[in-house]
Amino acid sequence: MEYNPDMHSLQCPKCKHGMDEVTHGGITIDRCTNCQGLWFDEDEAHQLKKLKDSHVLDIGDSTEGWKWDSSADINCPRCGKQMEKSSDPKQIHIWYESCPDHGMFMDAGEFSDFKFETPLDWFRGLIKGDRETTAP
Ligand SMILES: [Zn+2]
Ligand SMILES: [Zn+2]
Repeated sequence: MEYNPDMHSLQCPKCKHGMDEVTHGGITIDRCTNCQGLWFDEDEAHQLKKLKDSHVLDIGDSTEGWKWDSSADINCPRCGKQMEKSSDPKQIHIWYESCPDHGMFMDAGEFSDFKFETPLDWFRGLIKGDRETTAP
């Protein structure tokens, strides 16, 4: 939906459409009505990560998110400064944009990925895969 300051809480830094507020467990974040990207003020992403079922806020399809992942540099929806691309130290495949003063933006599907750290599953899969490939 086209950004309208009367209706929307923020303008999506990525696709420039309007964002709506969505709440889970008392934490309110902003979600784009178009690309479904998520904006987290300050530490909200980490707070939400600890809450049960908070991934329900991330309704977008990650294949949709990836389309936007490659888009050019984006500016903070709060201060307009260019945001920095950072990756999660524990999950280096996840890249998000962050403003050191205001918060971070994740593409659709990235928060679910961020929430479910599964190194153990990955490791198990590796062992299983190894057995299969070495079997005569
Ligand atoms: Zn958007
Ligand atoms: Zn900012």
